[in-house]
Amino acid sequence: MVDLVRSAGRISRVELAELTGLTQPAVSGIVRKLIADGVIRETGAVVSTGGKPRSLLELDSHAAYGIGMHVSPGAITCVATDTLGGVVARQAVATSAGGGASDGAVASGTHAVGGMADRIVALYRRFVDAVGLDPADVVGLAVAVPGAIDLASGLVPAPATVPGLEGVPLRDELAKRLDTRVFVDNDASLAAVGEFWSRNVSRSDAFATVYMDGGIGAGVVLDGALLRGASSNTAELGHITIEPDGIECFCGNIGCLERYASPAAVAELARGRGILPAPDADALGDDALFDLLARAAVIGDPDAGAIVGQAADRLARAVLTLANLFDLDRIVLAGAGFAVAGSIFATAVQERLDARAFARRIHPVRVELAIDPRDSAAIGAATLVLQSSVAPGHGPAARG
Ligand SMILES: [Zn+2]
Repeated sequence: MVDLVRSAGRISRVELAELTGLTQPAVSGIVRKLIADGVIRETGAVVSTGGKPRSLLELDSHAAYGIGMHVSPGAITCVATDTLGGVVARQAVATSAGGGASDGAVASGTHAVGGMADRIVALYRRFVDAVGLDPADVVGLAVAVPGAIDLASGLVPAPATVPGLEGVPLRDELAKRLDTRVFVDNDASLAAVGEFWSRNVSRSDAFATVYMDGGIGAGVVLDGALLRGASSNTAELGHITIEPDGIECFCGNIGCLERYASPAAVAELARGRGILPAPDADALGDDALFDLLARAAVIGDPDAGAIVGQAADRLARAVLTLANLFDLDRIVLAGAGFAVAGSIFATAVQERLDARAFARRIHPVRVELAIDPRDSAAIGAATLVLQSSVAPGHGPAARG
């Protein structure tokens, strides 16, 4: 019911009855309780279709807040969102405690398992306090992490892409320290939940988010619920083989997309070919060099354009496979990897889908860019907290 109100934006009780198949008195009863709980509210607007005027309902955007954190190798991004997925506050700090972060709460020499959990807890408390949120209005914390994760225990197995996360039962450690609901989930999955929720995507859309940060992943939402698979490690787009005799990947497979199209792969290729768009570019880290190449490509540098264009083409091939597998009709590109040259990637993917998607003569597949590609996973994390509290459907059970 709540998800119908969300995807509609504004909707009447009569329409809710039609969509759910419930009787009008049943709908009225549920709506009364949801209004009393502060989850939805009357908009004050009224539509008249000749009969009795119908007042419209919408989500109450200030009923509750979710806190989302995205832990990446370079930074921890923290956001608070309202129930519509709107960001009300944001903060980012360096991931490594010694990396110049303004995070003085972390004691040096802390045991590794407690280290990352202590750091996240300190950041969470300071953030909620600084933003001025009433802790009673905060419904929980979700942490987005890259790579594989054992969702049953919240454990990040080796090899972890973020130092300090490897082998840490992060969710249990956080739940021990915080008096609120805690989730830990994959960054690509959470980006998909966030984009689905905040874009008012209809439950009837076959929706996916392609997520590129350090690696490349995806999240698929069908019938309004995130596809979870056997262990919540679904849609590992970066580990689809695109070159059968290609480079070995850390995952054990050969010729994985990630080894050809991720920011690190593009940076490595550029160094190998000597394509360095600035005098000091070879001293830069992978992500910074990738952003530089992406910027050069966007403003028309032919060498950078060729290298980024090749990555976009390879990504497009893999996304075509994803679209064909799930008969998708809407795809959002999210993650820091799309922050600068997202339009080049979006165009390559859209053109390939228009020309080659299996169901293209039956329905189009629409490709869009996330509004905040860098913050998409953190926003998705906050959204998961909220939707699990007001409209369960995407997530595993919470702990804590
Ligand atoms: Zn791989």
